[in-house]
Amino acid sequence: MLVTRRRDTTAELALRSALSALGLRYRVDSPIPGTRRRADVAFSRARVAVFVDGCFWHGCPKHGTWPKANAAWWREKITGNRRRDRDTDKRLTRDGWIVLRFWEHDDVSSAAGRIADTVQLRLERRSN
Ligand SMILES: [Zn+2]
Repeated sequence: MLVTRRRDTTAELALRSALSALGLRYRVDSPIPGTRRRADVAFSRARVAVFVDGCFWHGCPKHGTWPKANAAWWREKITGNRRRDRDTDKRLTRDGWIVLRFWEHDDVSSAAGRIADTVQLRLERRSN
């Protein structure tokens, strides 16, 4: 099993193509200022950051499994990921971003719809 973050997971690719189908333009794997972290999908002008969290790596309540071999190491790894997610959310929110987080098991078209609505709302608000 890979320990490093997997780029361009199936869930991310599916979401990205759904967003493109809605006519949205976005940045992929976008650096978050002041951190070494990246948003999976970012809308810079609207300041909306999107993350697609893997069920295993981020400990999804429905599908998260806790391996029995090296249990302590895995627990630390997964809880560490979750801690970092919360910290990332906090930093982005502080900098005026809206953070949308989805699980890889979430329905792609409803996720894309929610993202599109949020981006549009933000852009409308900014132009007022
Ligand atoms: Zn899940």
